[in-house]
Order: sequence, then C-alpha cells, then structure tokens
Amino acid sequence: MASQIFLNGTFVNREDAKLSVFDHGLLYGDGIFEGIRVYDGNVFKLREHIRRLYDSAKSILIQIPYSQDEMPELVCETVRRNQLSSAYIRLVVTRGNGDLGLSPYLCPTAQVFIIAEQLNMFAPSLYENGIKAITAATRRNRTDALNPKIKSLNYLNNVLIKIEAHAAGANEALVLNSEGYVVEGSGENIFLVRDEILYTPPAYLGALEGITRATVMELAAELNLTVKEEPFTRHDVYVADEVFLTGTAAEMVPVVEVDERVIGDGRPGAVTKKLHKAFQVCTRRDGVQLYSKEEIS
Ligand code: PMP
Repeated sequence: MASQIFLNGTFVNREDAKLSVFDHGLLYGDGIFEGIRVYDGNVFKLREHIRRLYDSAKSILIQIPYSQDEMPELVCETVRRNQLSSAYIRLVVTRGNGDLGLSPYLCPTAQVFIIAEQLNMFAPSLYENGIKAITAATRRNRTDALNPKIKSLNYLNNVLIKIEAHAAGANEALVLNSEGYVVEGSGENIFLVRDEILYTPPAYLGALEGITRATVMELAAELNLTVKEEPFTRHDVYVADEVFLTGTAAEMVPVVEVDERVIGDGRPGAVTKKLHKAFQVCTRRDGVQLYSKEEIS
C-alpha cells in the first residue's frame, strides 16, 4: 500500500503529496519540524515532541493551524492510516506560500504535513559494533544567530557536517561550538562515560535539547548513574571510556573511534549497553499507545 501522508487537513497518496515552489519552507528553510518514532505501537514521548514543536513555532512566530491538543491525534492517525507499528514520523510545519521576498507576513497560512515511514539511520551492525566519527571543521550555529534549540527547517549547517563525515569515510561527525567545546553530532546529542560517570554538554553551548538525551538522563538516574551536564573538549572525548550518540532517528548508537583515536577498548561499553537495554524498554512504554491490545493480538 502506498503511504498516506497528512497534508493540510487531508490524507493524500505519497505521489500526490506536493507543496508549491513558493512555500517559504523551501525558499528559505522557514519552518520547523519534529522527528518522532513509533516502537511496537507506542508513539514514543509524543507529548514532548509536540511541546517542542510548539515552542519552536512560538519562537519564530509561526501560527500552527491546529492546537497543541489536536496535533497528537493527527500524528497518531497518520500512523494508523499506514497500519504501522514501528515507524519514523516526520512532522513539518512550513511558513506557507508567499512571494519571492523574505517577508513572512505575506505567507498567510502555515502548511502542515506528516509522513510516517521506515528509517534506519545506520546499518544494524553499527549499532552492535559502534560507529566511527570525526570532528567536523564546520562549527555549530551560534546560539545568538540561529539558536540550535529551535528545530527549524534550516539544516544546512547539519548537512555540511554530514558531508564532512562522509568525505572522511566516517559514519558521523562531532560538532564544536565557536569556543571549541564539543556540542553534539550532526543530528544527535552526545554522551561520554568516564569512570562510570556520564557527561553531556549543557544545551546552552548550542545543542538541541534532545528528547532522547532527556530520556537517557532519566534512565541513568533510575540506574543510579551520575550524569553531569558539563562542557567538554575533544580531548575529553578521546580519553573517555565510552561515547555514544542519542537521537530519535539515530536512537542510541555507540561511538568506538573519533579522529583515529580508539575509544576505550574499541567496543561498545558496559554503561552504554546497560542504558541501551533500559532505553528499549522505555521506548515501548513512555508515550501514546496507538492500538488497543485486541488490535495487536
Ligand atoms: N541534535 C540535533 C541537531 C538534532 O537534529 C537531533 C534530532 N532531532 C538531536 C540532537 C536529537 O534530538 P531528539 O533526541 O529529540 O531526536
């Protein structure tokens, strides 16, 4: 069955899901989005994603034509229509159609679309064995320019970082802020483990406040592990016992090599594995259940 896409209030077939070339999301990256995952019929942390979407919208003065209470059901309905029990959802709100000028005031209505499909960010063997990363030369956007806390459609910075990773033959790249502190990956947050203590950069350095990051911090607390939100440098990454990245698309992925330095013993570490196990349980528990028990069995 061709996938059904929510587009401005109706469901259309994938090939009919089209927007105007005058949409400012396309012309200027003027819009916002969320990536959300469904695990065994559970839309993981749906409310948190919706909240972040509306926060991004408020920050850049986009009026979403659905209320924050209506949006979760639109997301759930998109997944149900496609009869999926595991999926990656892309929820996008663009500024809408305007003229060729920059002005958002000539874009009367925001456009909303929701796609639910499959997405595997890395090959299964990389989740098992860990990925190889480099540090990108491209720095994260400054928080006083385009604040990375806003999940905007302007992902060119992230795309350039991904290109650097690819050019270096690595799976991913770590990103520094303009002061040289490690901030995150191209589309993931970062954690280090050293002497059983977890470290993650504070979001004010220029990271997105990841929902997976917050989840891992909660799980760590449940497992009596200490997490410190502290700035750290590339050196701290090189000498860490374990490194892993977190994100909705990437999920939890171990990093075993950075800039040709082997991390720990070059294998995913014990703390990462323990957290990953807890993460798998939590992704099926915390969120909105799409189907009743009878529908699943
Ligand atoms: N940082 C960036 C730049 C991202 O694009 C993402 C993915 N949305 C993340 C971090 C991880 O955030 P989350 O766990 O909420 O998906």
